[in-house]
Amino acid sequence: MKYEPVIGLEIHTELKTKTKMFCASKNDPDERHPNVNICPICTGQPGTLPVINKEAVNHVIKVGLALESKIAEITKWDRKNYFYPDLPKGYQISQYDEPICLGGKLKIPNSDREIRITRVHLEEDTGRLIHFGHIGHSLVDFNRAGVPLMELVTEPDFHSGEEASAFAQELQLILRYLGVSDANMEKGQLRVEANISIRPPISKLPACAKALAGRQAPSSILGTKVEVKNLNSFKAVRDAVDYEIKRQSELLDEGKKIAQETRGWNETKGQTISQRGKEQSHDYRYFPEPDLPPLRIDFGIVEEIKAAMPELPSQKRTRFKNNYGLQDDQTNILVNNEKLANYFENVVSEFMNWDKEGLDKDSLLAPELDASPHFIEKEKQLIINLSANYLLSDFLGLLNESSAEVSDIKITAEDFAEWVCLIHRNVITSRAAKDVLKEMWATGKDPSQVIREKDLVRVEDLGEIEKAAEKIIKESQAAVLDYKKGKEASLQFLVGQVMKETRGKANPETVSDILKKLLK
Ligand SMILES: [Zn+2]
Repeated sequence: MKYEPVIGLEIHTELKTKTKMFCASKNDPDERHPNVNICPICTGQPGTLPVINKEAVNHVIKVGLALESKIAEITKWDRKNYFYPDLPKGYQISQYDEPICLGGKLKIPNSDREIRITRVHLEEDTGRLIHFGHIGHSLVDFNRAGVPLMELVTEPDFHSGEEASAFAQELQLILRYLGVSDANMEKGQLRVEANISIRPPISKLPACAKALAGRQAPSSILGTKVEVKNLNSFKAVRDAVDYEIKRQSELLDEGKKIAQETRGWNETKGQTISQRGKEQSHDYRYFPEPDLPPLRIDFGIVEEIKAAMPELPSQKRTRFKNNYGLQDDQTNILVNNEKLANYFENVVSEFMNWDKEGLDKDSLLAPELDASPHFIEKEKQLIINLSANYLLSDFLGLLNESSAEVSDIKITAEDFAEWVCLIHRNVITSRAAKDVLKEMWATGKDPSQVIREKDLVRVEDLGEIEKAAEKIIKESQAAVLDYKKGKEASLQFLVGQVMKETRGKANPETVSDILKKLLK
């Protein structure tokens, strides 16, 4: 590669707390009425004093622990001064040089790439302007003003748009697992900005510059930094970063200079567009917040939070691969959908605990377990794989079709486990199983009941299958002739017809064998 991209991310997250960052106003992202959740503090009235929200601080400590950051013993608040109509105080309370979390790392899933975290700090969100261009004025809603906002800054460790997007997705998952934010990008709860520059590959730099090519390198070595904002989807993150790398490379190729500026992403055009240059950039005149003393973070509280940490996505991935022998793609779908993952684990724990005493007497599985009660123990891995396969194909298909949540569905983990075992034990064919599952989905009935009602137990009587095959041969003379002329596809057609005749109860291989015998 002619140039080496240097990419870092800054990610803002609205935290999920009962109240705002420095006052008792409600933090409700779903409030539709403007200026309802406001008070003298978050609207910046003179004489009011901020009070730190402990829940928000604890959330950031949680994130820091998940990213293996160093949690500060003392953290401090600073004023970031600028004027904008959605900022009632004329400044934001933020953290400048003593953030809550320093350092840390996040591994990009299914790769060996690890991104270093620079810092994670806490600040407050601004209000929101609503523009009515057609009537020539704008309105302001302060419901969001003062909502706790976490900012995470990475080292410039990314090589591509794909990596930046994968990082943001993994962070979103971690925030959701930790329960600190819904991190919904469409709702603006997770906002990504990318800093992008390009430079000649390190191998081509002079020795003295190589030593500096890490974090403290001057801009002459790092290249000119361009900041891209308005990245409100993972696709936008990926596409905007890749677009910038290409745009900057082309400028350098033409011998032109790259301007230090802020650009926005235009989704429709698939381009970044200049928003403001260096000369228009803000001087925030940071200074320590006089109304808030530095905050000492109690070591005991950090230990308490550490002890209550949930399993993280990366830990779940490793456990699912090791304990259940799942493939990467299966693991990923489950880890990305925590409720589905829990459902899967409930299904698996059914197998683990099953014995024939624990089973419903009416279950069609009971005679099977009577015949060979240790079969399940021996075949555990096979059944787990079968469960994962059916869960991620047929079950997930039905889930997506009905756009339901896992918590809404009528099939219990026990019934799903039984259904999988009935397939595994050949009580029903996989063809008939699909109909059984649909009926279970619609009615919540257990599989044995559905199979009895619909008379779907697998046909083992060869005579019965032969009778059905003879009937189909008589009715499908054209296909029979084609088959006799050597057209193999016609046999598949005939198999399908016999399957239909037996309502999916026959084993397709058996049907095929019988048809071949009859048509000799
Ligand atoms: Zn307030």
